[in-house]
This record gives sequence, C-alpha cells and structure tokens, in this order.
Amino acid sequence: MINGVINESSTTQSTLETRHSDVLVVGAGIVGLAHAARAIDRGLSVRVIDRDHQAVGASVRNFGHCCITAQSGELYDLARHGRELWLHYARESGFWAVESGAVVVATTATELAVLTELAQLREPGQIRLLTPAQVAAELGRQDTVGIIGGAWLRDDLRVDPRTTVAKLAAWVDTRPRAAVHWNTSATAVESGITRRARVNTSRGAFEADQVYFCVGHDVDYLFPELAEAHQVQRCALNMLRTQAPKGLDLAPAVLTASSMLRYQAFTEVPSARALHDELAAEHPHLLAIDANVMFTQRPDGTLLLGDSHRYAATQDPFLDESTSRTLHRTIGTVLSGHDLTVIERWQGIYASSPRGPLLVADVAEGVTVVSVTSGVGMTVGFGLAERNTATLPHRQPEPAPC
Ligand SMILES: Cc1cc2nc3c(=O)[nH]c(=O)nc-3n(C[C@H](O)[C@H](O)[C@H](O)COP(=O)(O)OP(=O)(O)OC[C@H]3O[C@@H](n4cnc5c(N)ncnc54)[C@H](O)[C@@H]3O)c2cc1C
Repeated sequence: MINGVINESSTTQSTLETRHSDVLVVGAGIVGLAHAARAIDRGLSVRVIDRDHQAVGASVRNFGHCCITAQSGELYDLARHGRELWLHYARESGFWAVESGAVVVATTATELAVLTELAQLREPGQIRLLTPAQVAAELGRQDTVGIIGGAWLRDDLRVDPRTTVAKLAAWVDTRPRAAVHWNTSATAVESGITRRARVNTSRGAFEADQVYFCVGHDVDYLFPELAEAHQVQRCALNMLRTQAPKGLDLAPAVLTASSMLRYQAFTEVPSARALHDELAAEHPHLLAIDANVMFTQRPDGTLLLGDSHRYAATQDPFLDESTSRTLHRTIGTVLSGHDLTVIERWQGIYASSPRGPLLVADVAEGVTVVSVTSGVGMTVGFGLAERNTATLPHRQPEPAPC
C-alpha cells in the first residue's frame, strides 16, 4: 500500500469483484476526463471513477476560459496543444466551445503599455490592440468613459463550465471500451502485487496497467507526503453569477488590469512592475483580495464574475461578502450601463503551489498523480493529458461482432 486506508469491514462481498482496464482514471474533472479521452483515442479500455454523483469540483465552478494567449513557457506550449483537443472533443461529445478570443480592457497608459509590449513579442495578429470605441463595442457600452484602449487575444477559447464536464463524461461513458463510475471513492493504491496497479475504492478494487490520480486539490487526502513536498494548498475564490443583461452578447472572455498581474506572459514584460505599483497605489482593495477581475458570458446570457484568491491548507467555507461586493462593483464599472443583478454566489477551490504550476509524479509503477497547481486547469488540461498519455500503447479497436 502506498498511501490511504483500506476499510475492509465496510466492503461488501458484491463490491469485492476486481475490475480490470488498460487505464484507470481517478477523478472526473476536466483533467481526469482529458486523460480518459486521450487513452480512449489510443484504443485502450478506460474506467473513470469519481467519489461524487456528478462533477462539482473546480471544473464546473470556473469561468470556462481557456486563457491560452497569456500563458508563457511550458504552460503556453501545453495550452496551444490543448486548444485543438478542446475543439476536437467539443465536436465529438457535443459540448459548447467557441473560438471567442478574449478582450483585455485598459484604463491607464501603464495597462496599455503592458498590452503593447506583449503584442510586440508575439506573432503578428495574435494580440491586436483595440481603440476605446472597439473595446466599448465589445462590452455593449454606449460610451467609452474610463477606457483608453485594450487588446484582443485571438487564440483564447471559451467553454461553458456548467455543462462541459457532464457532456464529456457522458461521451466517455458511452465509448465501447470505457465507463464512468460515480459515487466511487478511491481510498488506497497498491502496486507490485500483481502486474497491474490496484486501486481500492468504496466499491471494491479496480486494476489497471496505468492509473492516473486526477483529484485536483484533494491530492493531499490520498498522497499527503507528496502534497507536502510540493507545498500544495487550496486556493479559494469568490464567484458570482448575474442575470442576463439585456442586449449584451459577449463572445470573448473579458480581462482587466488585475488579470494582467496573474498571467505570466503579462508579468514578464517590462511595464508589469509599474502596473503592480499603480494598482497598489490606486486600487489597493483589489490587491488585498488578490483579485483577477474578469468575466465571461454563458450561453444562456448570464454572466460569471470573479474572482479573488485566498490560500490555506484547508479553506473556511464562509464567503466574505465584502470581497464579493468589491468584485461586483469593479465589474459594474467595466460594464457600466448594464444591469448586473446577482443571482448566485459560490466558492471555487483549486490546487495551488508556490513550487510550480503542475504536479505530475509517478508514485509507483503504473501510478501517476496529476494535479494542476495553479488556476489554469481548463487552459492546460488537454495539453497535459496529451503529454502524460504519449507513452501509452496504441491498440487496434476490437473487431465488431458479426
Ligand atoms: C473559481 C475558479 C475559476 C477558475 N477559472 C479558470 C479559468 O477560467 N481557466 C482555467 O484554465 N482554469 C480556471 N480555473 C482552474 C480550473 O478550474 C482547475 O485548474 C481545473 O478545473 C482542475 O481540474 P481537475 O480535474 O484537476 O479538478 P476538479 O474539477 O476539482 O476534479 C477533481 C475530481 O476528483 C474527484 N475526487 C477527489 N478525490 C477523489 C477520490 N478519492 N476518489 C474519487 N474521486 C475523487 C472529485 O470529486 C472531483 O470531481 C478556475 C478555478 C476556479 C475554482
């Protein structure tokens, strides 16, 4: 046993039957399902287990923004590779995905300088600077008050976080050699006993040649030493949903100045330091809640607004109303003229680590732990899955029965 607890007394006889597959994925969030999808497309048999009755983790609580353009280095490579896969699986499984791009709103010369500097580093056309009138038009605003320009990030995508994971899970479940088992909690993993790795669960044992643990921020429940070594924490974010503002049809994700402090491609340009200092002087309340003020519009017209960041090993479940109000008020300025009546609030949690944005660790033969330890799992999930599954064998599909 590598870690975890086996509670034999609670395991009934009917659940003791061991199930085999080429690949077992623990966790049916976007990271787990992306691994499952890539393994299926190599012709492998795949099982996915999730402790819940449907996915309710980070993958359904976010903006659905595949923030490709603003990544840098390894994350940029993963995001770009993942882009085609997002579009491929949207076609396959029928979830909503659009090549929407993103708009960044600039309200000061420093913000515009950051956008200009990044645009100059990228291929022509990938980042296009916008006039105040163009930004206002994107936002459905009649005026340009407070806007001095902005930028269009061509390559970003959007999906609907509330429906994507369910549709992808349903697609996985209906593949001939795959299945998704809900309400099935992994409790421990063993390897080296047989040729395969064995995962003990609340519904008996599952065996596979390759197991991927994609349990998001709960990696510390199953692998506490690994999580400790990687300094994994939980990052909690306040989020809000508003009613659909009349007449607003917003395809791109919308980012603002505080977003530029959170994505590496922006923070690497020379004016990023000045932007930080400017926000600290002009909008300390945004830095105090570690804000990334941004929003997206769902296909039903409602808006997802966020977000703040709070770090702890275990998060308090309580939402600070003043934080939510700050986010709501700030976005109210960006979308002035629109009615932003709030209809829902929630807390999202994702894994975070000061050691790096990704945790990928082979903890035993055929057992890999995968957690995106920064807030970009929607952006890099498919690229990461593609990389992690690249060494799996390809199998010919089984002949159809006569
Ligand atoms: C508010 C918010 C906004 C965000 N915005 C964006 C964004 O716009 N763009 C972006 O790229 N990223 C964004 N992120 C980050 C992104 O949502 C996450 O990085 C990503 O969803 C993580 O996916 P996951 O599959 O690892 O985790 P999850 O979606 O949390 O899935 C993990 C799954 O594992 C299951 N599980 C856990 N333990 C067990 C167990 N023992 N046995 C069985 N199952 C288990 C859980 O039930 C869960 O379904 C945001 C996150 C939040 C919270």
